[in-house]
Amino acid sequence: MISIVFRQLHDLRSGTYTYLLADPTMRQAVLIDPVLEHARRDSALLRELDLKLEFTLETHVHADHVTGAWMLKRLTSSQIALAAKSNATGIDLPLNHGDKIQFGSRQLEARATPGHTDGCMTYVLDDKSMAFTGDALLIRGAGRTDFQHGDARTLFRSIKEQIFTLPDECLIYPAHNYVGLPCSSVREEKQFNPRIGYARDERDFVGYMENLGLPHPKQIDIAVPANMKCGYTEFAEAAQAPTWAPVTYTYAGINEIEPVWVAENLSDVRVIDVRELNEYTGELGHIAGSNLIPLPQLNERLKSLDKDAPIVTVCRSGGRSAQAATLLQKAGFTKVASLFGGMLNWHGQHLPVNR
Ligand code: FE
Repeated sequence: MISIVFRQLHDLRSGTYTYLLADPTMRQAVLIDPVLEHARRDSALLRELDLKLEFTLETHVHADHVTGAWMLKRLTSSQIALAAKSNATGIDLPLNHGDKIQFGSRQLEARATPGHTDGCMTYVLDDKSMAFTGDALLIRGAGRTDFQHGDARTLFRSIKEQIFTLPDECLIYPAHNYVGLPCSSVREEKQFNPRIGYARDERDFVGYMENLGLPHPKQIDIAVPANMKCGYTEFAEAAQAPTWAPVTYTYAGINEIEPVWVAENLSDVRVIDVRELNEYTGELGHIAGSNLIPLPQLNERLKSLDKDAPIVTVCRSGGRSAQAATLLQKAGFTKVASLFGGMLNWHGQHLPVNR
């Protein structure tokens, strides 16, 4: 079996894991449980890895974050897949137990694992080396069963029959972890899971689950209605690309802009060159009308800059200007981009230079 591209992505706020899986030869990918606020990050990673997103998959209708499914569909033309039982609107590929999701030459098998919600799915990789268990089985835990039609008895059976029957060495990748644990295995959870491992029977499990005493999730009133529409929400606007310029958002978190656009829009943007004076006047020259503010001085000179005016930062190759753009954004500047490839790229495109 050919290898696989695999990335475990994380949302700090909700403790959600998003998983990228792709066929390295055919370049087709799936994302499991994307988070709305990271739709641009995820699409940047797909672009940088040269992958085509075929499907977003949900393990269930989440209560703690809004899915990025709808936004990623807008950004990448992916299709939205989740359990038919979820009754969500906007599903392109409604999934039932046993269905296969194909990406390139690889497949995920959808296994119904209800109990946390009645539409929960676990996705098992074709060679059974990985299982994406959502909130059914967590690392040394299991998803709460006290809302969204949860049922502890059902969850007990789902884990025992659909997950613990996988090979012992199969790795478990859950939808959440709040203390930074990345993954587990079937063997470990069968042995050490305090809720359902070792000799725990259904009564032990139900007794445990019915006494968790967890607080009501903070995001549930926003997240569930939005997720019932596959993440379609007016809040989705927040994740959209800036409109002031055709910037490219990178996985490193930088807005980059192409030299040609800058050259064609010089009169509408403020160009800040963050190199040192000897570079500004040196062999690469500088862009006409640009202001020299060396990176070490940028912080103290922020007050002299208009926060709402579009700014393009420039340096030799695009590194220091990316740092400058980040600094400006953190300081509240809203329309900032770093010149992609810096003056080297500017020269490469034969654009005019002042010396
Ligand atoms: Fe959940």
